[in-house]
Amino acid sequence: MTLSAETKCIHLAERIERTATDCCTTKESNPSPHYGAVSFPIYQTATYTHPEVGQSTGFDYSRLQNPTRAQVEKIVAQLEGGIDAFALSSGMAAITLLMEIFKPGDHLIIDNDLYGGSIRLFDAVSAKNGIRFTRADISTDSIEPLFTDSTRAVYVETPTNPMMHVTDIAKLASICRAHGVILIVDNTFLSPYFQNPLALGADIVIHSGTKFLGGHNDTLAGFLVTKSADIQEQLRYLIKTTGAGLAPFDCWLILRGIKTLALRMERSQENAQKIALWLKKHPLVKRVLYPGLPEHPGYRIMQKQARGFGSMLTFEVKDSETAKRILKSVKLIQFAESLGGVETLITYPITQTHAEVPESLRLKNGITESVLRLSVGIENSDDLIADLAQAFSQE
Ligand SMILES: *Cc1c(COP(=O)(O)O)cnc(C)c1O
Repeated sequence: MTLSAETKCIHLAERIERTATDCCTTKESNPSPHYGAVSFPIYQTATYTHPEVGQSTGFDYSRLQNPTRAQVEKIVAQLEGGIDAFALSSGMAAITLLMEIFKPGDHLIIDNDLYGGSIRLFDAVSAKNGIRFTRADISTDSIEPLFTDSTRAVYVETPTNPMMHVTDIAKLASICRAHGVILIVDNTFLSPYFQNPLALGADIVIHSGTKFLGGHNDTLAGFLVTKSADIQEQLRYLIKTTGAGLAPFDCWLILRGIKTLALRMERSQENAQKIALWLKKHPLVKRVLYPGLPEHPGYRIMQKQARGFGSMLTFEVKDSETAKRILKSVKLIQFAESLGGVETLITYPITQTHAEVPESLRLKNGITESVLRLSVGIENSDDLIADLAQAFSQE
């Protein structure tokens, strides 16, 4: 049975395919799996009994596998069109685990504009482990001259955090294939509801599950999704060995969050469109970076490769005083880092998410003291615009 994206957020195709006999064959008092619970149970257990030597229920120890984690992994794999997904304790834990598939001397081409934490991980941890990086403006520049014999992967976000650059995934994937390297796409900003990089030729998708997948600013999580059996095998070995798998309760929170992913993505995008148009007309706003505006350089690519434009937008105001005044004056909108939740958050990348990015790189990327980032939530758009209007008009 083929399911559409909204349905996939709630039901596993696998469960629907299951026949009535399959789920009623157990002899115990539990007539169907999980007593027919509609909400998938939280298996708060560290370990599992074995009937006898050489036998296993498929679950041995929760660092390796846990039923609640397996369920959220199946849902995310299904949403991204991967053969498997891995649920980790945060987005950064997911990226850290992923870096373990590389070895000293391996070379990666990474985008200039990335989440600040990813830049810090590559500079401070991966580099120490012997992995070498070359940065480029991957959305605009040719990366052909950057490939070496040791290049193993290209790493991008699209749209990027926070400058909203859009990369043509299919085009980049074919360049990667020609060089025999893998393409890694951090798909956090659009969620699998709006974009599926694996279908466009990427090999690995990353999510900070803390953001749109969880959707409620109440838990941290990270995901890796792949369509390659070889990468799947390496990551299964690594998650078991390194141990940052997502805890059962957090898996359940993400499962609950995903149930409303479609509704939240649609509503927050609608709000973001309205706010982008309002900001564009405001005299104190110099530019609005939102890929859903036709003048955005990535608009056409987004129309081709995504099913929506998302609800993240970055804007530049007249000067740093204006930016600081807005951050101090918002009432409904909260001044906080993070994104992708039902609450609208405003972030100051220069002192928050991107504070530790080397200054030269930050300036090159255009992250100045006048740049603000909005993660638009699902509140009433008139209320959000009224709050921005009053914050802009404060002296
Ligand atoms: C937040 C974020 C991360 C890191 O995820 P955490 O869950 O905070 O560890 C990685 N990539 C992007 C694009 C993000 O926005």
